[in-house]
Amino acid sequence: MAEQKRDYYEVLGVEKNADDAALKKAYRALAKKYHPDMNPGDAEAEKKFKEASEAYAVLSDPEKRRQYDQFGHAAFDGSGGASGFGGFDFGGADFTDIFGDIFGDLFGGGRRSSGTANNGPMKGSNVRTSVRITFEEAVFGCEKEIELTVKEECKTCHGSGAKAGTTPVTCTKCGGKGQVVFTQQSFFGTVRNVQTCPECQGKGKIIKEKCTDCRGTGYIPMKKRFAVDIPAGIDNGQCKRMAGQGEPGVNGGPRGDVLVEVIVGRHPIFQRQETNIFSTVPVSFPVAALGGEIMIDTVDGKVIYEVKPGTQTDTRVRLKGKGVPSLRNKDIRGDHYVTLVVQVPDKLSHEAKELLQKYDEANDDSLNAAKRYQETKDNASSDSKDSKKKKKRF
Ligand SMILES: [Zn+2]
Ligand SMILES: [Zn+2]
Repeated sequence: MAEQKRDYYEVLGVEKNADDAALKKAYRALAKKYHPDMNPGDAEAEKKFKEASEAYAVLSDPEKRRQYDQFGHAAFDGSGGASGFGGFDFGGADFTDIFGDIFGDLFGGGRRSSGTANNGPMKGSNVRTSVRITFEEAVFGCEKEIELTVKEECKTCHGSGAKAGTTPVTCTKCGGKGQVVFTQQSFFGTVRNVQTCPECQGKGKIIKEKCTDCRGTGYIPMKKRFAVDIPAGIDNGQCKRMAGQGEPGVNGGPRGDVLVEVIVGRHPIFQRQETNIFSTVPVSFPVAALGGEIMIDTVDGKVIYEVKPGTQTDTRVRLKGKGVPSLRNKDIRGDHYVTLVVQVPDKLSHEAKELLQKYDEANDDSLNAAKRYQETKDNASSDSKDSKKKKKRF
């Protein structure tokens, strides 16, 4: 694995909520300072330049930035053979698109050759799929096997696309370069134009007789099994990216990625919100009144919780650190909030009934409260009638 990577925002020295203009400004300054053209032979500067470029490439792309904010560097790691460095892909047209205008105004243009960009090496397509996991698997992470059909190099022609016994021949039009240069006279003088060779479409080779197995494409769709390492803390709908495992690139470009969407099953007891878990637990009336120990189910197993005497129903307690690990750092976990619901017994034995009645008498005699009220009202009204009568008589 590569050495510990710095946070992209930190690399660029911007705030988490920096907008495009701020990102661009920060990157421009760093690129100007560390660009290899400005620091020939300075390995440290080159490293800094690459680090900043990588950070900018990710943060300036809304989709990649979203992935990064969610997963951190894990969003882009994987076994991608095409990686430029540290698991990040610097090949392909994206790079030119992102940096073209910046280098354009830094170095007076000329780095971007839009005429040939579409025919240069291009990253292959991404392949999307999904996998179902349980609530617990999402909390603690898991490994799942998926099967996908992706194009693999044709065994018959070893990817050349040429029929067995034949080999692709060098294109005569471009001499194998894949590009043709033609000069044009213009008002400003002679202009040299570079174009993708129309004969070989930039490949530099021409297949005279196509391989019958792959029809000259050099690739055959194949079923492949992948082990997907699903990180602890992933949530429903989030994607795990496996860099460089997708469809092959074009003209020597890197492979695309495989994006695995995670579908998390419902749990009978637990609900989840971000990294917190919620559940309700019944508490008997005596435990709520007198206090006592209860068992609470958590994702880590049962825990014993000491209920305080006089606990009311719907009291919410927090089990610190019993929630879901953060995707960015699995050592940081959310909490588990438990709502204690005091149970009212609906079936009582004769003995229990008597005891409860005795309990009530010993307290505020709530069972007879209404009766007492009625009696006092009756007495009061008869009293007042009496007094009225007395007044009249008086
Ligand atoms: Zn073939
Ligand atoms: Zn050619």
